[in-house]
Order: sequence, then structure tokens, then C-alpha cells
Amino acid sequence: MVKCPKCGKDVAKPTKTWKLAPKGKKAINIGLYKCPSCGAFFRAAIK
Ligand SMILES: [Zn+2]
Repeated sequence: MVKCPKCGKDVAKPTKTWKLAPKGKKAINIGLYKCPSCGAFFRAAIK
């Protein structure tokens, strides 16, 4: 669960996810979230 940076509402599910794997570093999952309240798109790392 992440919070919308604009309005602070909790967003449960990402609309899209992908893996980011920088060389020599651990791969992390990135999620693209859309706020159901204000409609803002934002990215956040997923654990
Ligand atoms: Zn929002």
C-alpha cells in the first residue's frame, strides 16, 4: 500500500509493475500507481 503524493489517499494496487535491475545491484520492483481519488499517476518501489 502506498500513499498518493498529491492527496495522501492510500492506493492498494499498482496498475503496472516492472523490474528494475541496475548493474551490480539488487533488482527492485517498481509499480505504477493511479490514485482513485485525484487521478494522479506516480511510481513507487514495491517490497
Ligand atoms: Zn491522489
